[in-house]
Amino acid sequence: HQAKHQINRVLFYEKNMEKCSEQKMLLEHDLHKALENQELYLDYQPQIDVRTGEIISVEALLRWKHPTKGIISPADFIPIAEESGLIVPIGEWVLQQACSQVKKCQEDCQLTIGVSINLSIRQFFQHNLAHTVKRVLAETQLHPACLELEITESMTMDRKHAVETLCELKELGIKIAIDDFGTGYSSIAYLKDLPIDTLKIDRSFVMQIPTGDTVLISMIISLAKHLNLTIIAEGVEEEFQWEFLSREGCNLIQGYLCGRPMPLHQIIETIHFQQAAQI
Ligand code: C2E
Ligand code: MG
Ligand code: MG
Ligand code: MG
Repeated sequence: HQAKHQINRVLFYEKNMEKCSEQKMLLEHDLHKALENQELYLDYQPQIDVRTGEIISVEALLRWKHPTKGIISPADFIPIAEESGLIVPIGEWVLQQACSQVKKCQEDCQLTIGVSINLSIRQFFQHNLAHTVKRVLAETQLHPACLELEITESMTMDRKHAVETLCELKELGIKIAIDDFGTGYSSIAYLKDLPIDTLKIDRSFVMQIPTGDTVLISMIISLAKHLNLTIIAEGVEEEFQWEFLSREGCNLIQGYLCGRPMPLHQIIETIHFQQAAQI
């Protein structure tokens, strides 16, 4: 009886695995056509000055409007894009699209707003990454100082490659941020010699404010200050989190409290509104 039960469990498990990989294969198949069928688009989330509330920059976040399945979250399709290699053309499209849309936003608002773009690990290991970025900047006429690329700690594990690639990118005049900071394995000493500009504190730390353990978040902020890095907190949802981060000297915040990811034209409207209120 016990053995039969075991076998059933294994069969059930295998069936689920099959279903799962079948679903993945179907999605991968659809993803191949997503770019040319114009099913991909970008939402943007504001990054605001913790003290003034002004929108300083935006993060581009990729969305897939599947013809039958509706909107699919990047958490569900980026891994598939990554495994299949599709992330390379998709990532280049994101770069092109975000730079040209934000350039247009700058012209509309007469404001040098910045844009952050997430890089995937495969993109980070493309030998022509810096060339691609350089070309897109030239094509879109976006000022390099307005572009920030986000990488994660795990991408810097191959230290030699990370330093070389980051130096090449920095030579273009763009900025580099470490995303989801605190969730990876990098030590403080490790951070010190990387040519980066910004630390993004992961949402899991922000969620601790103020009832949980806030020692770590305070330490990360003071570390960033000592290393002369800009510090941004992600996933800010509550007023008291904003207050805490402001008191600790965090520079920027991003989260549902200041705005969900949205079409860029909505952000432009908000900026116009803020500009009108200042006059
Ligand atoms: P991420 O870069 O860490 O982006 C932040 C994620 O947190 C976004 O999820 C955003 O919508 C969400 N978020 C922002 N504020 C809040 C908040 O206050 N509360 C909560 N609960 N969540 C918040 P999203 O858009 O689903 O993206 C998930 C991840 O997918 C991103 O994490 C990033 O790693 C990846 N991703 C998104 N777009 C791209 C892209 O163009 N290229 C690559 N390679 N990865 C991307
Ligand atoms: Mg990010
Ligand atoms: Mg993040
Ligand atoms: Mg995250």
